[in-house]
Amino acid sequence: MKSPAPASKYFLYARKSTDDQVHQLLSIPAQIDELREFAQKEGLNIAETFIESKTAKVPGRDIFNQMLGKIEAGEAQGILAWHPDRLARNAVDAGKVVYLLDRDILTDLKFPTFWFQNTPQGLFMLSIAFGQSKYYVDSLSENTKRGLRQKVRKGECPGKAPLGYLNDRLNKKIVVDPKVSPAIKEIFELYSTGQYTFEKLSIFLGEKGIMTSKGKFFKKDKIKFYLSNPFYYGHFRFKKEIYQGIHEPLITKKLFDEVQLVKKAKSHTFPIKSLEFPFTGLIRCGECQMMVTAEHHFRRYETVNHEKDFIYYHCTRKSRFIPCSQPFISQEILTTQLNQHIQKVSLSTSDHSWLIKRLEDDKCQQRSEVLVIVQEFKKDLLNINDKLNKLLDSYLDNVVSREDYLNRKEKFMSEKKTIEQRIETLEQSPNKWLEPMREFFDTAVEADKIASDNINLFQKREFLKKTGSNLTLKDRIVDCDLPEQWAALRAARQVGTKVSGRGLEPPQSCDHKPLKLARIPFRHPDFLK
Ligand SMILES: [Zn+2]
Repeated sequence: MKSPAPASKYFLYARKSTDDQVHQLLSIPAQIDELREFAQKEGLNIAETFIESKTAKVPGRDIFNQMLGKIEAGEAQGILAWHPDRLARNAVDAGKVVYLLDRDILTDLKFPTFWFQNTPQGLFMLSIAFGQSKYYVDSLSENTKRGLRQKVRKGECPGKAPLGYLNDRLNKKIVVDPKVSPAIKEIFELYSTGQYTFEKLSIFLGEKGIMTSKGKFFKKDKIKFYLSNPFYYGHFRFKKEIYQGIHEPLITKKLFDEVQLVKKAKSHTFPIKSLEFPFTGLIRCGECQMMVTAEHHFRRYETVNHEKDFIYYHCTRKSRFIPCSQPFISQEILTTQLNQHIQKVSLSTSDHSWLIKRLEDDKCQQRSEVLVIVQEFKKDLLNINDKLNKLLDSYLDNVVSREDYLNRKEKFMSEKKTIEQRIETLEQSPNKWLEPMREFFDTAVEADKIASDNINLFQKREFLKKTGSNLTLKDRIVDCDLPEQWAALRAARQVGTKVSGRGLEPPQSCDHKPLKLARIPFRHPDFLK
């Protein structure tokens, strides 16, 4: 058995798979894409690419002969093609390839779909692959799959268009359905308010004449499915994998995300009665991470013949893994602690007016800062693209499993879309970020009032939710983890900060870094949505 030297240079050879012109357009770029990917993975040095438009059924292909001539001349020692049937489907061409192999002028053939070894057995298998139409038939299904993959890579979602879109068969595109799409947009908007169930949305669609093909209302799972489909904001799912689409989106990524949050919140079926208590569904147990719930305790005072209602909060203890030992806490004590947390982030009226004035004054300068932020976001985008590429490499190198790959890809794609939309928003209205900032100041100035009002406890709940605080209860103590801009405000208060200069700054004697409050929320996700 001879052991040929490995080829140092390869020629990449692609040929159309059928005589059908339409398929050919898709097929050659697809072959080249796949082959280049394969070459990179295998570390093959591609000296030249040959693209043949003639079929291999009859001998006499110009490009093919030209390639063999260059191999004779020693310009390359190997050929990379999709399958042996791409190289030769007639005895003359097959004979030429085998003859070159026999003389070691050609030392290697590589195919992503066929393993070839330059040994007598390998040559025997190869001649079968060349000659037998069976191989051609077998690889047809592979070809179709490859065609689909290429389509998907170009951002075209294969298959039937989702509700709200139509398949434009003539141009092979998915286009917006002008009749149905406004209603689809509306169901996203309605659902994001949190006041609609899937059933209600199904009725809403039904009333507009949007029903199943059998004229029935959509089942609630179907509505849920529509509300989870990334297609509506511009991506699509194909074989569980997320791709960037080229179709026109119906909704923003932001609206989609809001809908997902509502869906998630609703699936944690906190009973509606939880609204009976102001602080349920708001705090987590510090020991087992389950939610804190509440219950009434009635105590009878015989002397005055009066029944008093006490509300106690406690961990739901639903964790199957951590046995929880946390005690009860009365609503009274809990309220006092929550008041303290609220007070810590309050803003005085004078500081508030000063900050609002600054917001107005700085608009021009902030315009240029917005540009800086846009640049930062663009860097983030490059970063994510890089991560996506690395992820694909790890998947192709079998470092990560397909499931892992799909999960992580979905996460990166989602982040990417969010950032892209933020950039778009900022570029269209550079001062828009000031609005949430103003709202933040307006909320903070309300804090003192809310903390001292012990009648309307639900207002405290709303406030705490608005700040995005992470509340945990452990050993009857509530701990409050605040998002950065609120934490900055609290820290500013704790060091006795006076508002001065460019933002909130601590006194001279303090060695804390200046808290440039006015700049902090730039990168906070909530602020640019
Ligand atoms: Zn617990």
